[in-house]
Amino acid sequence: MGPVKAVVNKIIPFSSVDGPGNRTAVFLQGCNIDCKYCHNPETRGMCKNCGLCVEKCPKGALSLEQGRVCFDSGKCVQCDTCIHICPHDSSPRTEELTPEEVSARVRKQIPYIRGISVSGGECMLQPEFLTALFSLVRAEGLTTLIDSNGTIPFWEYPELMEVTDGVMLDIKAFDCREHRHVTGAGNETVLANALWLAEHKKLYEVRAVIVPGLYDTENSIRQIGAYLAPCLAVSPFRVKLIAYRPMGVRREYADQKVPDQEYLNHLAEILRSYGFSEILII
Ligand code: SF4
Ligand code: SF4
Repeated sequence: MGPVKAVVNKIIPFSSVDGPGNRTAVFLQGCNIDCKYCHNPETRGMCKNCGLCVEKCPKGALSLEQGRVCFDSGKCVQCDTCIHICPHDSSPRTEELTPEEVSARVRKQIPYIRGISVSGGECMLQPEFLTALFSLVRAEGLTTLIDSNGTIPFWEYPELMEVTDGVMLDIKAFDCREHRHVTGAGNETVLANALWLAEHKKLYEVRAVIVPGLYDTENSIRQIGAYLAPCLAVSPFRVKLIAYRPMGVRREYADQKVPDQEYLNHLAEILRSYGFSEILII
């Protein structure tokens, strides 16, 4: 069997918003759900090599060779025309990398990082790659975090969990029908994952994107609070309330309501009433 490669959308050498401390953030390509407010829609789909973006690149950084799109980073000016034009929610600027290759890029940031966080897309679609990558970077003394939409059961990947320090888990709506409305998928596995991760002390953070009007945000936060409060006794974790903003969102979904600070504070108060103390509003 060849090496487990993953399609990598991008690697941000230093990030302070993807877990504790300074971290290298790795974004894998491909997602299994379709959030209406997705802030990185260009990470959702795999490139179909259709060539549409090639002729639109103003700098000639893209070409089609033997049916595959090729990217010349030296010519790219990061104008993002290609990702806006792509009809498949993809990007021609991805790379197919082995865990060893990603680990080598991470190593360059040692000793300035505490660890790595892998996101997407949905990185749990590539668990073998994650297991291999995490094993490598842990051997370098780094910590490992997964950022996930929670639709893939973590308990089915014990080897991965052994080399994972924590998970940042999205709960995009507590009510299953609302979750389906927001993402196109139900949330039975998401909620089961939340309990399982908390019980196994792997739940680092629960994230909720607040989009008033898209789903009943107050009711969702209330139910998340009631559902997860008993887990605080096992191990504490924080809740991040993320205000919807239209930046990067697909045009057809860019007119959702942006919540104000007062409303976000109100949601944080609800969580406090359930015993949560670590609440971050961003
Ligand atoms: S990135 Fe999108 S537009 Fe460009 S070749 Fe791939 S699928 Fe086509
Ligand atoms: S971002 Fe895309 S369209 Fe813009 S220069 Fe780079 S490759 Fe070309």
